[in-house]
Amino acid sequence: MVDILSLPTVPELIRTAEDMYRLGWNERNSGNISCLLSQEESQHIADRSVIRTFPLGLAADGIAGRYMLITSTGSYFKNMRRCPEDCLGIVRISDDGQNAELVLGFENGGRPTSELPAHVMSHLSRLEVDKGHSVVLHCHPANIMAMTYVHELDDAKFSHTLWRMCTEGIIVFPDGVSVLPWMPCGTKGIGRATAEKMREFRIVIWAHHGIYGVGSTLDEAFGLVETVEKAAQIFMLTSHLPHINTISDANLAELAEVFDVAYRKDFIKS
Ligand SMILES: [Zn+2]
Repeated sequence: MVDILSLPTVPELIRTAEDMYRLGWNERNSGNISCLLSQEESQHIADRSVIRTFPLGLAADGIAGRYMLITSTGSYFKNMRRCPEDCLGIVRISDDGQNAELVLGFENGGRPTSELPAHVMSHLSRLEVDKGHSVVLHCHPANIMAMTYVHELDDAKFSHTLWRMCTEGIIVFPDGVSVLPWMPCGTKGIGRATAEKMREFRIVIWAHHGIYGVGSTLDEAFGLVETVEKAAQIFMLTSHLPHINTISDANLAELAEVFDVAYRKDFIKS
């Protein structure tokens, strides 16, 4: 019998979920995380038979045969360490790309997050542009959400504002952020819109709801969201005050040069 905690990505995900909870990003049962497992890790569970099957409702040929660790619907991030077998599941994407086949976890009737379509479609999009991609995470950081009430929901303008809020912004997310208008969550529509943006961006913000971040590791995806949220916090702390000093566009260009990052120059002209 394989213990779900024996897979190295599982304790890593639990630690990340706890950090997200402690930062106030994942109240109640909100948020979800999925990680595509490496070939090496997948070998440990390759002989397991299918326990239950969840139809994806979409064609995920690009990740057919891959194993994915994913949080369950209704689970609380703060409780994940206490019941990892209930809160987490490992699914294999079926050979025809139509189903998620449970091979471990989701005990006591658990199911994948209701945002499964957004996760699967985002994984497919990111793998097209980043072979090392592995992680998709979603949460509700307060300052990012607050900013979507008071700032224009325009990719270029939103990114430009965030870059100017802290020096490390343009270094950590030179590709900027994308902002989707409010849409109902848990639907294929928002999943499709998110995945479409993921071809260009590693951060997709859902107005008045939260944020999606991706990366090759849990730390990378987490750190990306953390940096965007910090920039949003500075905006919310200062947007009602006169700015007598700022990071100028010339400063942003200088930073990009010093740190040798390819940033969205078209966003600075906005
Ligand atoms: Zn959410």
